[in-house]
Amino acid sequence: MGLLIQKFGGTAVGDPERIKAVADHIARTVNTGEQVVVVVSAMGKETDELLRLAEDVSVKRPGREMDMLITAGERKAMSLLCMALHDLGVDADSFTGSQAGFLTDTNHQNAKIIEVKPERIKSALSEGRVPVVGGSQGVSVENDVTFLGRGGSDTTAVALAHAVGADACELYTDVTGVFTTDPRVVPSARLMPNVSFDELLEMTATGCPKPAMRSVEYARTHGVKLHIRSAFTWQEGTWVGEEKEEMEQAIVSAVTHDTSETKMTISGVPDKPGIAAGVFRALSDVDVNVDMIVQNTSEHGVTDISFTVPHGDLDVSMSIAQDLVEEIGATGVSSDTEVARVSVIGAGMRSNSGVAASMFETLANNEINIQMISTSAIRISCMVAETQINDAVKALHETFGLAEA
Ligand code: ADP
Ligand code: ASP
Ligand code: MG
Repeated sequence: MGLLIQKFGGTAVGDPERIKAVADHIARTVNTGEQVVVVVSAMGKETDELLRLAEDVSVKRPGREMDMLITAGERKAMSLLCMALHDLGVDADSFTGSQAGFLTDTNHQNAKIIEVKPERIKSALSEGRVPVVGGSQGVSVENDVTFLGRGGSDTTAVALAHAVGADACELYTDVTGVFTTDPRVVPSARLMPNVSFDELLEMTATGCPKPAMRSVEYARTHGVKLHIRSAFTWQEGTWVGEEKEEMEQAIVSAVTHDTSETKMTISGVPDKPGIAAGVFRALSDVDVNVDMIVQNTSEHGVTDISFTVPHGDLDVSMSIAQDLVEEIGATGVSSDTEVARVSVIGAGMRSNSGVAASMFETLANNEINIQMISTSAIRISCMVAETQINDAVKALHETFGLAEA
């Protein structure tokens, strides 16, 4: 008999029929003799709706009240799912994050897990009951309800899998697994039966929305085996684990894209030691996560520095950059939101050259200009015009032979 975590995303529990279908899926798993702990997200787009309601009511939106509000979405889903399970003859109990033993810091709307004490979950299991846990929530060290952030239910599932020693953590979503690229952009994208933690981390860091990046980090750190699969079929999805050394690694395994970043350029920057340090220290002091960075060669002692920031951090980054322009004697700062990043990822890049050349040639052949480049040992990313991003993804997916045969 095994112990499984089954996490169902918002689409999977989107309406009463879907909730009953999920209950049926859980009941069938339980009837095969497995022990199951369930984690649920809020129904459909409920989290977005709750956030919108808060905006309609308040300008201040205190963090404590926001978390109390948002976590209500998961609470509704978990109790409804338990009711549907009871109708199928499965004894199930719902648990809030706090009841499930999730202790977090006090950082409302983006709380970090400090510790999981799953005593109540374990005792429910030992009584033959199915625990159903509200995702993305916990209780802070100051005893307030906290929300783990968008996509946090994946992290709840992985953390619980580690805490109860589950054999695997199944993340059910609206696609059959992780694909070689976004199937909405390239319909012939292929399901990846296996992917390593390292590759999936690079994918989620560069635009693949599933699973949430934090949950992949947690799974890698604690060696939790992940299985990403569809809530609507019983077909095998994507298994995520350690890289297998004996396996021949694909040079390129996937292509991702991301339209969530803005390019900023500070121009006429004096080219001397300490200037870049000052710029990026000022941004990091306000928690802006700078990603790609390019500094041009200097001419007559001045240069341009370009970098990317998340769209949501543009205003604060611009105001900091404008203050810095005066301080360091630069000539100006500009921003461009119409950019997008395309990335190719593959563990085999570690030992193969020529991927960058093929990538740049493919973009050039499609008249796509590269504005910035960044790399890791297993990834190459290029910033291009947003209007050309789908063409870039399609062309690269083709070049690296990733489509269905
Ligand atoms: P959920 O609704 O479960 O929270 P999202 O809608 O955020 O999930 O993400 C799931 C979607 O991500 C899928 O419907 C799919 O279109 C898209 N997607 C983008 N890139 C990939 C990829 N490489 N593999 C699988 N799905 C992807
Ligand atoms: N419902 C929350 C969200 O949409 C948490 C989650 O589902 O992971 O972000
Ligand atoms: Mg979705």
